[in-house]
Amino acid sequence: EKLTNTITDVAEKAITTDNGEFFVELDFGYNVSSNQKDDRNTLLKNAHVALSLACNDAHKNFYLYQPVLIEEIQRNAQLIDKLRYAIGKNELFLVFQPQLNLESGQVTGIETLVRWQHGDNVISPAEFIPLAEQSGLIVPIGEWILKKASVFAKRLVDLGYSDIVVAVNVSPRQFSHPMFCQMVQQTLLEVGLPAKNLELEVTEGVFMRNEESTLDVLNHLKSIGIHLSIDDFGTGYSSLSYLKRFPIDKLKIDQSFIRDSHRNDEDKAIIASIISLGKSLQLSLIAEGVEELQHVDYLRRLGCDEIQGYWYSKPISPDDLIVLLEENVDHNHQVNQISFAT
Ligand code: C2E
Ligand code: CA
Ligand code: CA
Repeated sequence: EKLTNTITDVAEKAITTDNGEFFVELDFGYNVSSNQKDDRNTLLKNAHVALSLACNDAHKNFYLYQPVLIEEIQRNAQLIDKLRYAIGKNELFLVFQPQLNLESGQVTGIETLVRWQHGDNVISPAEFIPLAEQSGLIVPIGEWILKKASVFAKRLVDLGYSDIVVAVNVSPRQFSHPMFCQMVQQTLLEVGLPAKNLELEVTEGVFMRNEESTLDVLNHLKSIGIHLSIDDFGTGYSSLSYLKRFPIDKLKIDQSFIRDSHRNDEDKAIIASIISLGKSLQLSLIAEGVEELQHVDYLRRLGCDEIQGYWYSKPISPDDLIVLLEENVDHNHQVNQISFAT
């Protein structure tokens, strides 16, 4: 781990050229053997196994070979096989998490989150979305998610929630697909959903690849009225220059900063700086993973626009969300009372 960090510190510095900034990303696979009988080929082959896992893991850039890794690779391959049929077998479903505006106490947005009912288990997207990305299945799956989320958004608009914004997560691989814009536009048209009721969430990583084509895609989406937000803000790259180049509406402050912020001053400082950065760039701000009343109060004091998290509501089914929206007015009073009392 130390060696990995030493090398990445040197190698992953931004390379600044006349044509912009460039980044190199490294992945590492290690294999250690105390067994004299292991031959060179086996050692190298197993290091490659570790490397392939590192390449496919968005959160970890190195793996040390262990025999169980082979099992993991096999399990992943089996899951990918089953995922191929998940849409056809009606195994995917969506849940929705409300986003609460701190000033008005109204639910102003909703994030779409996908689930996979596989046998008796519900598999988390944190597990299968990376596999869908790896295998390319994210393209049809992402299209299915966007369609279903748009149908739900249209249902809400028809119920009279005409300003509600439904957010959909878009993975990097989906985003760089040449037909992405067309697919989004086609979906809006088919469903009859106004573009202003749709938001797309992308992660910072998207801005670092193919800057020009990313800019074109974002400008196009923006020009038809779709909202754009940056997910997991603060965990990605250190360069912030993309914030001034890309047509972004909203920063989603990553939940890792919120989680312990009620007992951690560094987290508080980071949250305050992100909010002040966002405000000075006229971006709207939402905090994710808000679980504690102290979080709500702190964020409200800093002027954060919206919150999302278990404190207000877990992700819930479409029908439950409609009930929650109906009750929102009552809850709204509670939200304000609780906070004013503290
Ligand atoms: P994300 O986009 O950052 O989504 C927020 C995650 O935080 C969700 O996990 C949500 O259930 C969870 N969460 C919300 N409030 C709280 C809270 O107060 N406390 C805690 N501890 N967690 C909270 P989930 O649904 O398991 O999704 C995990 C990740 O999978 C998402 O992270 C997103 O990156 C990906 N994902 C989920 N749905 C989709 C999708 O439809 N398409 C794509 N491409 N990715 C998706
Ligand atoms: Ca998200
Ligand atoms: Ca997030």
